[in-house]
Amino acid sequence: MEHARSFIAGQYYTAAGMPLSPVFNPATGAQIGQVDIIHAAGLDAALLAASSGFESWRRTSAYERGRILQAAASLIRERKEAIGRLMTLEQGKPLAEAIGEVATSADNIEWMAQEATRAYGRLLVPRTAGITQAVQREPIGPVASFCPWNFPALTPARKIAGALAAGCSLILKPSEETPFTAAHIVRAFIDAGVPAGVLNLVYGKSRQVSAHLIASPVIRKISFTGSTAVGKELLALAAQGVKRATMELGGHAPVVVFDDVDPVAAARQAVIAKFRNAGQVCTSPTRFYVQAGIYPQFLEAFVAAARAIQVGDGMDPASQMGPLANGRRVDAMELLVADAVKHGARLECGGSRHEGAGHFFAPTVLSGVPESARIMYEEPFGPVVPLAPFDTFEEVLGRVNALPFGLAAYVMTRSLARASAMSDALEAGMVAVNHYTVSTPASPFGGVKESGYGSEGGIEGLDAYLTSKTVTQRVA
Ligand code: NAD
Repeated sequence: MEHARSFIAGQYYTAAGMPLSPVFNPATGAQIGQVDIIHAAGLDAALLAASSGFESWRRTSAYERGRILQAAASLIRERKEAIGRLMTLEQGKPLAEAIGEVATSADNIEWMAQEATRAYGRLLVPRTAGITQAVQREPIGPVASFCPWNFPALTPARKIAGALAAGCSLILKPSEETPFTAAHIVRAFIDAGVPAGVLNLVYGKSRQVSAHLIASPVIRKISFTGSTAVGKELLALAAQGVKRATMELGGHAPVVVFDDVDPVAAARQAVIAKFRNAGQVCTSPTRFYVQAGIYPQFLEAFVAAARAIQVGDGMDPASQMGPLANGRRVDAMELLVADAVKHGARLECGGSRHEGAGHFFAPTVLSGVPESARIMYEEPFGPVVPLAPFDTFEEVLGRVNALPFGLAAYVMTRSLARASAMSDALEAGMVAVNHYTVSTPASPFGGVKESGYGSEGGIEGLDAYLTSKTVTQRVA
């Protein structure tokens, strides 16, 4: 049995009377561990630690900060199998995917380790002789970061790396449903030499933790990944203290498939992307609009590939898709499928949960889904995919941009003109043409509209934790 505890001011935090919350393996339903639920006094201790940690870390040279981050990335790489195993046990994704996520986390940390030394300011040309004007880039201050359960290593790794590279201290709250992976990511940073107080980890009741931390004058910035509904709540709290925020919220990524592509190859490629992490990915391709001329062939190949997916416990090397991370997602899938069918969609395959233990749901394809069905405007966040035909460029553009979301969007075409026109017109933070990788360490990851604002990754991911100070002097 694993036991996750908060880590504050360089040590594991213990206090009398902290309740425990059980952690379950979503593939079996068996309890695999527990997590301490922190109380208000513990959160105050974390705030105090982050405050003093910031004072020393901001004065640590960016080269030294980068060196420590680089060491953390190396440790995470060395430990990727062990961390990946824990991730599969607590979150469900296939082991190879989990280990891959840990390795990607290390890549992201390494990139930020190098970027730490590039927080350049600038000198301005003065308007008056004898005056100098400089813009200094400074870390914004202690940060509170809140993570969900779908990427238990990558989300914490990105939030820690950006903040620490910039010179900020951090209080990180992972999901209590997937606490163990995050604990090991944090451990690697501590083992790499991050000083006490700079990186603090708390587990608790989400609403209580965020309200307490965001209200504190110590916290100068928040970063949240999760649903749009919770993001709005946290933004309202941040507004009370006029605090900066990075919001990585929900998406509902459209895929526009034009009739100049090979429908079979495009469908097979799409199925791999769609069912990764059982569809529990904010950039997951979730609404397929296929041009009428190739719609029947695309649909047939898509359904065949979805049917062939091997669903099972992520610890089994044969499994290509694991369980959903929790029972809430299984219930949500059932409701979305029933609603789509009620609105006239055709259930091509899947559509139901698996009997027995574990939160398994069959890869599900719905065809001819009208825009009025909930799944066309609500993020599925699971292995259910709607397909619908379209005729013209203008028509499909109106349909894909109609939602309040704008995270990722995908286009499949061999026409350079169509690709450019679509990329320009899509209301999304990230667009991929003819492939599905929108996230790399060097590229800004973030959305527009109700998918949030601010970015993680790229030079924007460092900028998110910096503030600009103008310093002007009369020198003569
Ligand atoms: P939820 O909206 O209650 O929670 C989403 C995440 O936010 C969870 O990890 C939770 O621990 C955290 N959270 C919830 N309330 C919080 C609060 N007041 N303060 C701080 N953190 C809080 O629901 P859920 O059932 O966990 O997930 C459902 C939906 O969330 C999904 O359908 C999906 O749309 C969205 N989601 C998005 C992402 C993403 O990567 N953008 C990740 C996970 C979930």
